[in-house]
Amino acid sequence: MISDLHLHSSFSSDSKSNPEDIVKKAVSLKLPYICFTDHNEFEYEDNLFILDTENYFKQLNTLKEKYRNEIHILIGVEQGLEVTKSNNINAFLSKHNFDFIIASSHMVNGIDPYYPAYFEGRSTYDAICEYFQSVLNNLNCFSNFDVYGHIDYVIRYPKIPDEGYCFDKYKEYLIPILEKIVDSGKGIEINTNGFRTRIKESNPSFEIIKKYREMGGEIITIGSDAHSVEYIASDFDKARNYLKAAGFDYYNVFINRNPIKIALD
Ligand SMILES: [Zn+2]
Ligand SMILES: [Zn+2]
Repeated sequence: MISDLHLHSSFSSDSKSNPEDIVKKAVSLKLPYICFTDHNEFEYEDNLFILDTENYFKQLNTLKEKYRNEIHILIGVEQGLEVTKSNNINAFLSKHNFDFIIASSHMVNGIDPYYPAYFEGRSTYDAICEYFQSVLNNLNCFSNFDVYGHIDYVIRYPKIPDEGYCFDKYKEYLIPILEKIVDSGKGIEINTNGFRTRIKESNPSFEIIKKYREMGGEIITIGSDAHSVEYIASDFDKARNYLKAAGFDYYNVFINRNPIKIALD
């Protein structure tokens, strides 16, 4: 089985999963590694997503010890990036010893594309361009992370879907985004959450994963982004097929911020 490097527990306010239930489920699925990547997000509505790091490390380290003969438990974070919050974000990330840091764009100029208001009063195309531009701005500003999370997250949400969504349509953003990631030795993830949404596709899409590989991309993790226990490792068979079709015969896990290659069986 493939390790799941993107999981949310009740340390994220949008998940009710008990951390130990996550571990038990992952053990039952025979996953070699799992990484908790609960949210940390500054200035999100009412500070909904500020991670309680003290209890997070305490509880997860206890589970790590308790289950050490059954599964490797890694402790990570999904950090929401925005250039305007760089001081807080950099201070937070350098203060804690995470195994793995996913950098994600959830807030784009103060609003999450999850909300319909993000798309109102303009074309879907313009709204998506603004999102990709903000990813690029983040890449030019931040370096303390391992992979960029669900790079095309924005396409899950428009009221009027982008039916013609493809790499070429947004290549003026996607090419520099992928170049920057490859050149800086960072990676991307295949986030399988999208298969459970109306787009029925991973984030990023297969086309972007393939381009990433063609452009020299080497570091890639797989994550379900499960916010409930039932979705741990969901659609990982599809992620494996995507990896192989894109030319990867391995995926990565991160231990103490170091990428380890695991061969795909
Ligand atoms: Zn996310
Ligand atoms: Zn997530």
